[in-house]
Amino acid sequence: YAAKRKLNGPQLYDPIMDSSSAQTLSLLTELRRAIERNELRLYLQPKVPLQGKPGLAVEALVRWQHPQRGLVPPMDFIPFAEQTGFVRQLTLWMFEESARLLADPRTQGMGLRISVNLSTRDLLDPELCERLQAMLVRHGVLPQGFCLEITESAIMDDPQRAEAMLNRLSQHGFKLSIDDFGTGYSSLGYLKRLPVDELKIDKSFVMGMEHDHDDEMIVRSTIDLAHNLGLTVVAEGVENAAILERLRALSCDEAQGYHVSRPVPVDAFLSWHAQRAWAQETGR
Ligand code: C2E
Ligand code: MG
Ligand code: MG
Ligand code: MG
Repeated sequence: YAAKRKLNGPQLYDPIMDSSSAQTLSLLTELRRAIERNELRLYLQPKVPLQGKPGLAVEALVRWQHPQRGLVPPMDFIPFAEQTGFVRQLTLWMFEESARLLADPRTQGMGLRISVNLSTRDLLDPELCERLQAMLVRHGVLPQGFCLEITESAIMDDPQRAEAMLNRLSQHGFKLSIDDFGTGYSSLGYLKRLPVDELKIDKSFVMGMEHDHDDEMIVRSTIDLAHNLGLTVVAEGVENAAILERLRALSCDEAQGYHVSRPVPVDAFLSWHAQRAWAQETGR
């Protein structure tokens, strides 16, 4: 059993891998069917502005509503999807759902921008730009409404290739963000060259900053670095009001985390937004 865990590499999808060997073999088939059977779910988590700027961003996060296993979190199937290449279909599904949402009359007037996560595999897909472009046209939305999040480690897997792809995406009008910043050993030289608009500070530092002086220093330096490079900076993993206020005082641009909202289905996000707008109007 231990040997099998090792061979499988990351253990994050073990809950599914271990449930039975027959299921292991059919996981890829099941994932493919998940799209046809409409089992994937678009969840949204807001990123709220801390410095009084208008507009609102949300991150699109996938869930799998499995008929037997219930709601499966992404970490239980994304690594597997990456390994098998299925993640490319998943990305397109998420992007299309996001485009649909931007075109939805219920989101008009919100100044909404949607972030979609890309994986390493997506960066290797020569047709990615054209596929995304085609969906924009189909739904009648502009690329400026989207931000594509790429983890720092995905970029550093193959920096030259990533740079070429990011340049193309940027030329197509997409905003770009470096996700989980601080965990991927990127060189500042690359950072300067990449056409990115946003840095997201990894939640491990944000969650630690209240009690760990080093984490606080990392968060502060990252905010300054981002601003000195002309980038917007977002803190993920904001779990309480004290951290949110600290980030505001440190000039962090946006906050995302359970304290603001957990990732929720589209309808719940729309209610959250309506309540927030009402509270802001009435000053409560
Ligand atoms: P991520 O892109 O860094 O997304 C942030 C993760 O942190 C989300 O986990 C979110 O639920 C969680 N999070 C947000 N706020 C807090 C907080 O205050 N405290 C804590 N403890 N956690 C918080 P989730 O939704 O489980 O997603 C995990 C990862 O799976 C994502 O990390 C992303 O890398 C990947 N993922 C999710 N959806 C997609 C997708 O559609 N495509 C791809 N390629 N990857 C995805
Ligand atoms: Mg992300
Ligand atoms: Mg992140
Ligand atoms: Mg993360």
